[in-house]
Amino acid sequence: MERAIRKAAVLGSGVMGAAIAAQLANAGIQTYLLDIVPTELTTQEKARGLSLNDAAVRNRLANEAKVRLLKTKPAPLFTARNVELIAPGNLEDDLARIAEVDWVIEAVVEKLEVKQDLWAKVEAYWHPGMIVSTNTSGVSINRMIEGRSEAFRQSFLGTHFFNPPRYMKLLEIIPGRDTDASVIAFMKWVGERVLGKGVVLAKDTPNFIANRIGTYGLMVTFAEMMRDGWTIEEVDAMTGKAIGRPKSATFRTLDMVGLDTFVHVAGNVYSSVYNDTEKAAFQVPELLHTMLANGWLGDKSGQGFYKKT
Ligand code: NAD
Repeated sequence: MERAIRKAAVLGSGVMGAAIAAQLANAGIQTYLLDIVPTELTTQEKARGLSLNDAAVRNRLANEAKVRLLKTKPAPLFTARNVELIAPGNLEDDLARIAEVDWVIEAVVEKLEVKQDLWAKVEAYWHPGMIVSTNTSGVSINRMIEGRSEAFRQSFLGTHFFNPPRYMKLLEIIPGRDTDASVIAFMKWVGERVLGKGVVLAKDTPNFIANRIGTYGLMVTFAEMMRDGWTIEEVDAMTGKAIGRPKSATFRTLDMVGLDTFVHVAGNVYSSVYNDTEKAAFQVPELLHTMLANGWLGDKSGQGFYKKT
C-alpha cells in the first residue's frame, strides 16, 4: 500500500494538541482539531445570546486554540502561514470526519480511562491504512488499546512530541506489542522527513525514556530544594540560560508543561514502577497538590511558579 499523510486529525486542542496540529499544518497537511464540548457558557457567550447548542460554543476549545496559534511568534519548526489548514471542531459532532484521514493523533488529558474510551470511539471510523497514535507522556501504549481489534492494534503506536513542539526536535516513537513494522518505519520517516524531527524509538515502559528521566530529575530537584532552602529563581538560574538552555529552566518548563499534566505524568510513573524505593522517588510533593487546589496550573491558567505576563 502506498502510504502518505494527506489529512490528519488531532484529538485534544490543549497545550500539545494545538501545537501538534500546527506542525502538521506547517507540513502542508490538512488537519481537523477536535476537543470536548463545553458544558457551560462563558460570560461573553451569554452576552452574545449564544446557547450551548451553537456551533461557536460547541467548537469553542478548538477555535480558541487556532486563535492562539495565529498569534504565536515564528519559531524554528513553526510559522503561522499554514494555520488555515486547521479545521476546528468537536469530538461529538465531528468525530465521523476522521474516517477521511490518514493519521489520527490523540492529545487529550493524561488519563488512561479517558484515552481508552476515546480509542473505542475512534475504532468505529478506523479503516485499513489509517495510522492511529497517542501523544501520551507515559501511559502504557498497550493498555490504552486493550479491547481494540488486531488490525487497529497493528496500526497503533505512541508518537510523543515534546513541549514546545515548535522548538523541540525530539520525537519519541513507542511501538505497541502488535504495531506492524511497516507502520513504525513509515512513522519514523514522517517524523524525520515530513516534520523535521529527530526520532528515538522507545519501549512501552512507564513514562518511556525522556519523561522517566525528566520526572526523576524534577523530583530530586524538588526534594533537594526543599531540604536545602533554594529558591525557584535560584534553581532556574542554574538550569536555564546560564548553562546554554534558554528554554528549559526547571520551573519555567514546568509552568509551560502544565502542573496538572505533570502531576498525572508523575502519578503514572508512581503507580507503574516496580518497588517502594522507586515509588518514593516519584511521589508528587505536597506543594504541587496545594498549587493545583488553588487553580495554579502554570501558563495555561496564567499562574504557576511564575505569573504569566
Ligand atoms: P491540556 O490539559 O493542555 O489539554 C488536554 C485536552 O484534553 C484539553 O483540551 C481538554 O479539553 C481535553 N479533554 C479533557 N477531558 C477530556 C475527555 N474526557 N475527552 C476528551 N478530551 C478531553 O494537556 P496537554 O498538555 O496538551 O496534554 C495532552 C497529552 O499530551 C497528554 O497525554 C500529555 O501527557 C501529553 N503531553 C504533554 C506535554 C506537555 O508538556 N504538556 C508534553 C508531551 C506530551
